[in-house]
Amino acid sequence: MARSGGDYRLGTDEPVVIIELGVTSWCNYRCAYCVTEVHARRGDARHAFDHHPVDAWVAAFARVPYELSLLCRGGEPFLDHDGFAPFLTAMTALPRLRYLRVDTNGSWSPARYDAVPRPARARVQLNVSFHPTQLGLDAFARRVDAIVAAGWHVAMINYVMAPGQAADYPRVRDFFLDRHGLYVNPNPDAYDPAWTDLPRVRRAAQDPLRALLPALDLARKTGTPTAGRPCFFPSIAYFVGPDGVAARACDARLPDEPARLDFLRDSARLRPRAAPVPCPQPTCLCLDRYAFLDDAEPRGRRIDLLDEYVEACRAHQRDPGAASG
Ligand code: SF4
Ligand code: SF4
Repeated sequence: MARSGGDYRLGTDEPVVIIELGVTSWCNYRCAYCVTEVHARRGDARHAFDHHPVDAWVAAFARVPYELSLLCRGGEPFLDHDGFAPFLTAMTALPRLRYLRVDTNGSWSPARYDAVPRPARARVQLNVSFHPTQLGLDAFARRVDAIVAAGWHVAMINYVMAPGQAADYPRVRDFFLDRHGLYVNPNPDAYDPAWTDLPRVRRAAQDPLRALLPALDLARKTGTPTAGRPCFFPSIAYFVGPDGVAARACDARLPDEPARLDFLRDSARLRPRAAPVPCPQPTCLCLDRYAFLDDAEPRGRRIDLLDEYVEACRAHQRDPGAASG
């Protein structure tokens, strides 16, 4: 039987709609495993607030006729403090906003975001990625210190690692637990062949992670196929690019709707579905997406998917033998 309910009200005509906004392709880092197109200069980048003014974006979000969960991705969204600060301030004031998260590499200066009111900072969840190929632990820790001191809500440190860096995970985990009580996510570089190639190699590469990640996350993050499985994520989620073009998430194509929609003009026409759709992708790496697969229950139940995930991972690390969601 298909799953339903939860905070996202899956299976109903009034779900909470998820919007993943690609804020910018501008990024100051060059990670070999980066899955998106990035540009070193803003002038070369696709950037939301160069395509449309902040007010026009906020007005489009305000016209979405459903409660909203917003995820901001890049590039590095915080590089543009002139645009992103007023955007965050206005978005956190929208009555239908239930949740807002930003994926960031943490390289920005909190002083440039002083204009964002403290209650708004506390409401914006940050998933701060640590890229050890780009900077050392001490330099990264100083940046996290400054962000936390400025009152931002850091929900998780995302430690992006090649197989050779997995052995260092306990040290990084304990470091941030002691320093700020923060959870460090062991995130394998999914495009490293060791995680995904020949089954025997893959099993050996997975071994160090088995005690750290619940089975369902280990499978997803190391390339176990998802194609064709029923999933509610595209039913309730849209991807919106920096140019304002919206498409149903995961490139899922449904026969009775246009493939693309102008979000700035037509955000009132988003149409979530009350049934799951077959996964159109070969694999799925993102914890807040695969949480809506039929077999991922009890995930995808809480509005705060990151908190749900962190809790499951911490429980698994305490007791890897117990069943964990
Ligand atoms: S920081 Fe993120 S967006 Fe930037 S290059 Fe690295 S993985 Fe890509
Ligand atoms: S499993 Fe992942 S890629 Fe497939 S439909 Fe669900 S969210 Fe999309």
